[in-house]
Amino acid sequence: MRYQTYALHNFKSIPQIERLSDDDLLNIEVVGNVLPFKTNNYVVNELIDWDNFRDDPMFILNFPQKGMLAPDDFNHMAALIRSGADKTVIRREANIIREKLNPHPAGQLEYNVPELNGEKLNGVQHKYRETMLFFPSQGQTCHAYCTFCFRWPQFTNMDGDLKFSMKEADSIVGYLKEHTEITDLLITGGDPMVMKAKAFDTYISKILEADIAHLKTIRIGSKSLSFWPYRFLTEPDADDLLAVFERITKAGKSISFMAHFNHPQELSTDAVKKAVRRIRNTGAVIRTQSPVLNHINASSSVWAEMWQKQVGLGMIPYYMFIARDTGAQDYFGIPVVKAWEIFQKAYTQVSGIARTVRGPSMSCTPGKIRVIGLAEIKGEKVLALEFIQGRNSDWAARPFFAKYDSKAMWIDDLKPAFGSENFFYEEELAEMLLK
Ligand SMILES: *Cc1c(COP(=O)(O)O)cnc(C)c1O
Ligand code: SF4
Repeated sequence: MRYQTYALHNFKSIPQIERLSDDDLLNIEVVGNVLPFKTNNYVVNELIDWDNFRDDPMFILNFPQKGMLAPDDFNHMAALIRSGADKTVIRREANIIREKLNPHPAGQLEYNVPELNGEKLNGVQHKYRETMLFFPSQGQTCHAYCTFCFRWPQFTNMDGDLKFSMKEADSIVGYLKEHTEITDLLITGGDPMVMKAKAFDTYISKILEADIAHLKTIRIGSKSLSFWPYRFLTEPDADDLLAVFERITKAGKSISFMAHFNHPQELSTDAVKKAVRRIRNTGAVIRTQSPVLNHINASSSVWAEMWQKQVGLGMIPYYMFIARDTGAQDYFGIPVVKAWEIFQKAYTQVSGIARTVRGPSMSCTPGKIRVIGLAEIKGEKVLALEFIQGRNSDWAARPFFAKYDSKAMWIDDLKPAFGSENFFYEEELAEMLLK
């Protein structure tokens, strides 16, 4: 299958686009000028239900939606586009809107960039003790863009410095060698699977050749199984890519493919089933993750079905996230309490084999905070929370409590329960961030 992408400049050439009204087209153009937009022929022909596109989760996942911008911002951009405004004017006004959408959530840029020999290692984050994140410079795009994406500033050219990029595989090896506490290297993006097998091989070979005993697991964070499973089937270097996976397992490291799936529809095609089988045949384990998203998967039966299908294909459900406080959170976000209710109802519908999933979890500045559940303690309604991962690893697995709040969308909206001024970690966190 030949890979064909569609974006703002050519999406009107998609044959199915005939079904869209003038208003639908304008919505895409207006929002697509502010937030990233890219889809491809697999998504268009095999995932989207064009008979029902306005409510179709796969359409909403890839095509910009009117509700993603605040009404004033939408109307402002729409007026500019209708009046045939100059490209530079549109770009300037789009940047102003983007800046209002919290483009750098959870201190991603300031706090987590480590140093090697006194120099900042761009393209690397080391936030949790055991796991180092690596953003290879050649993997900073995706086979299609999720409309909810929290890495959206990377794709919009608003800020050159925002592109996490690092060409030196040598410096990650150097950092790994110095940090014997790191057991996991998580290669992420964008999507590292957009890389050619050759480029991927360059990084992996250097890492394997360095023979770092404390490095046990290489993880690959990727949405390719749902957006372009042909990456593992018909691309000219598909076999070469899978051979690199096999070399990782043969070198005695485990390889965990962290697959992003947002909806059971993405698990339904022959292509994805074949691709899953091919990846598993290399010895890789596939774990799955997704945020819970309004308009896409905010339903317990959707989640239960998704986990069961994943288990059926030999994958391990791993994370349910709460949508980050960035970009179009007003459109995709749901209250923390509702996320937990969806989780609980889905969790109780599946057997223990699918209950490996952890969540619903917020990736925020202090760590990954999971909602354990609702409780009433001595007459006070509370939310029980815990860290799955903490900036201080000792914070993990200690229950703490927030006041019940049915509207809170994020940790910043929650207040400590039982009359406390602060959550237990806040003072220590403030000190850590000053360093
Ligand atoms: C989620 C995450 C990890 C991995 O955490 P695990 O609990 O090991 O899956 C590592 N680093 C960052 C910054 C993360 O957000
Ligand atoms: S695959 Fe991940 S990085 Fe790429 S657009 Fe989707 S959420 Fe963003």
